[in-house]
Amino acid sequence: MTNNKWVYPFEEGNGEAKQLLGGKGAGLAEMTQAGLPVPPGFTITTEACNSYYASNKQFPEEMWEQVQHGLKEIERKTGRRFGDAQNPLLVSVRSGAALSMPGMMDTVLNLGLNDNTVQGLAAQTGDLRFALDAYRRFASLFGEIVMGVAHAKFERVMDRFKSQTDGGRDTDLLPEHLQEIIAVEKQIIFTEQSGLGIPEDPYEQLRVAVAAVFDSWMGRRAVDYRRVNRIPDNLGTAVNIQAMVFGNMGQTSGTGVAFTRNPATGEKVLFGEYLINAQGEDVVAGTRTPNPIANLKSELPVVYDQFVSITNLLETHYRDMQDVEFTIEQGQLWMLQTRTGKRTGAAAVRIAVDMVAEGVIDKATALQRVSPDQLDQLLHPMVDPLYATAVLATGLPASPGAAQGQVVFDADEAEQMGHDGIKVILVRQETSPDDFHGMVAAQAIVTARGGMTSHAAVVARGMGKSCVCGATKINVDYGQQQFNVDGTVVTKGDWITVDGSTGRIFLGKLPTVQPSLGPDFRQLMTWADEVRRLGVRANADTPHDSQVAREFGAEGVGLCRTEHMFFGEDRLAAMREMILADGAGAREKALEKLLPLQRKDFAGIFEVMTGLPVTIRLLDPPLHEFLPAMDELQNQLAELKMSLQHVRSIHDMDKLLDQIDEKRWLVRQVERLREVNPMLGHRGCRVGLIYPEVTRMQVRAIFEAACQVQAAGKVVRPEIMVPLVSVAEELKNQSELIHEVARQVTGEHGMTIKYEVGTMIELPRAALIADKIAPYADFFSFGTNDLTQTTFGLSRDDSSRFLAYYIEHKVIADDPFQVLDQEGVGQLVRMGTERGRSVKPRLQVGICGEHGGDPRSIQFCEQVGLDYVSCSPYRVPIARLAAAQTALSAGASR
Ligand code: PEP
Ligand code: MG
Repeated sequence: MTNNKWVYPFEEGNGEAKQLLGGKGAGLAEMTQAGLPVPPGFTITTEACNSYYASNKQFPEEMWEQVQHGLKEIERKTGRRFGDAQNPLLVSVRSGAALSMPGMMDTVLNLGLNDNTVQGLAAQTGDLRFALDAYRRFASLFGEIVMGVAHAKFERVMDRFKSQTDGGRDTDLLPEHLQEIIAVEKQIIFTEQSGLGIPEDPYEQLRVAVAAVFDSWMGRRAVDYRRVNRIPDNLGTAVNIQAMVFGNMGQTSGTGVAFTRNPATGEKVLFGEYLINAQGEDVVAGTRTPNPIANLKSELPVVYDQFVSITNLLETHYRDMQDVEFTIEQGQLWMLQTRTGKRTGAAAVRIAVDMVAEGVIDKATALQRVSPDQLDQLLHPMVDPLYATAVLATGLPASPGAAQGQVVFDADEAEQMGHDGIKVILVRQETSPDDFHGMVAAQAIVTARGGMTSHAAVVARGMGKSCVCGATKINVDYGQQQFNVDGTVVTKGDWITVDGSTGRIFLGKLPTVQPSLGPDFRQLMTWADEVRRLGVRANADTPHDSQVAREFGAEGVGLCRTEHMFFGEDRLAAMREMILADGAGAREKALEKLLPLQRKDFAGIFEVMTGLPVTIRLLDPPLHEFLPAMDELQNQLAELKMSLQHVRSIHDMDKLLDQIDEKRWLVRQVERLREVNPMLGHRGCRVGLIYPEVTRMQVRAIFEAACQVQAAGKVVRPEIMVPLVSVAEELKNQSELIHEVARQVTGEHGMTIKYEVGTMIELPRAALIADKIAPYADFFSFGTNDLTQTTFGLSRDDSSRFLAYYIEHKVIADDPFQVLDQEGVGQLVRMGTERGRSVKPRLQVGICGEHGGDPRSIQFCEQVGLDYVSCSPYRVPIARLAAAQTALSAGASR
């Protein structure tokens, strides 16, 4: 006897043990033990799969004996025998990982059929046509999944035979057609596999099918899916072997999938689809268009009522929306799967809020139920409803959000173009899991066939990607690389707009608008605010951005990058004049022009953010960003010199010579200011230190604006932030200047303004000597963009060229400019915080690099004890939720 238990009958498995039994196996065990109608079967564990990989693709010792024993049990319960020519048992072999990976791994149905047992099945059911149909399904599935023959080859055979019937449907095929189809399919397998056919021995069929399911764990689409969804590779898949039940045994049989609530909107109604006289693959593959579940009430009322009560029971039991698969075999309902249903962001929010109101879950659970990514979907744009334009085609609103892109028909091509930065929309007749990498790269997915639960729909929803399914008017012609809708031809490369929220497809690029967020969203956000400890501010450079941020719940501005205020045409000229100025006098003249522009912007931001802190960072441009390009200047100079030849008057000559002198001066100045490495050059506080008049102008603008807004009765809370400090003396110098100008301006206005002066910590040295810097600072804000750049020695402008390779080859897990590198950069954040607070315990500390909007980085900020995170306005709700979730899990682990 061995101690290793690789196989668990459904009666024995623990419904909680998803890691061991996979989600599907655990669900089947739970349903069996709850007395629900589940066909008998057993689960081979994920540990068996891991052992298979660890031992060079050998089944672990004893596993096969346990499988055979499990089969005997199924035989006993069903009264049928595996391989028996009179009364054969057929089984399904299905994958099932701990975390659901819809459609990413393999399944074989009707296993156990061969030329003998098919006769037994015909005798058993009294239906030759049915038995042959089951056999041809088995042959093509086995051929595809286990023996690796392309699915399209079998599809073509089916299409050819169907076109010979009157109705043209699967169900119109007669036994003699099916017999021929089986023979052709077997021949295809035989030819493709150089003489290897489907094994006749059912046990051999089972052995290779189980191995094929294990193998599919490392198949390309499963690996791609795990990468996108951050699922580790070492979990393995379980395999479920279960007696077959048939949904294709006539008009009282059928099969379907259903969600206990609407997975697109969250509405509390049973939502699903079924097909009469069909097997599960017909619904999921989208090859036939299914009926809404509500129709089952009139078609098979007794079964419908039983189904409704079972789904209610399952939802109450699991306290979450369930996604179930079922089959009806001659009026008898069988449950084949239950799992937590995937849902859109909107549905996630609504279900969480509704379930609290229904008393099913508490607020903390509701907050944990919505992922920050799902919330992100809610903030996606929609096609502007006021924009009246002809709809090209409509389909099912499978996954919300609007997207624009160039049409492409092939997944590999979509991936390639996406990689090159081109926005594409993948248009397919229907998608299969093999298209997954193309779906990842696409902005949206459109299919001509398939329902709300088709592969494309499920996968797109999971990714939060816009998708329209079943747009039946679209005729896809892969050969010509075009599709046709009522005579309108759309060719590869044409732009279309897809609105996954309404199911509409438009020609061209349409304007989009942000959705308005409903009461459920606001409710969830209120609960998040009740539990989070971290403050959430926004990085906003203009009054408009600040307005958006405030509407999303920002508690102030954590970073206003003042140099961004100069990007407009008129402003750029004044900014250039200031940078290029020879001497303080000329610079001050240029600064005078900038002052009113800045004052106006600051006043606008203070007004919007009344009562809340506004952190304004002093100028921090690598100066070259504002200078004209040298080669352009040289060209202009050359052109002016050429013009000398054509001058006709002395006056024109004088004018031209003046222009040439001016241009030469400009070339010299730009040359003088040119830096080999501007990111590490004359930027940040180094500008204010060497040109104090720049700091003076900015601080004057801030305080004049503050006085103006405060005089109008609003509360202003400016926080002036000095960038790129690495030496304490730099901050001392700048803060003295700030206080001096503040005194001056407030004195002139006869007002008092409450303000603070602080610094960014964005260089490693600043973090290391934070205790020397803190005495001059009221607050720290970690600039983790520059801190990442300088800690890694990795240019934030150039690294994207090679970081993708690093990530793909797992040299590093994530792009450190997106997800804070806790191991390295994180140490500096922790150290900077601790050292700063060691001399000033109440020092306020925040983060304003891009990481401030990333949920995993926010979790780290909570652990380090920062006071707030600051992120872009549209990420504010995500940061509020992530902050609440991390506070809840910190509370749970205390
Ligand atoms: C930073 O460096 O993290 C930062 C917020 O400043 P910027 O991105 O403007 O350099
Ligand atoms: Mg910076």
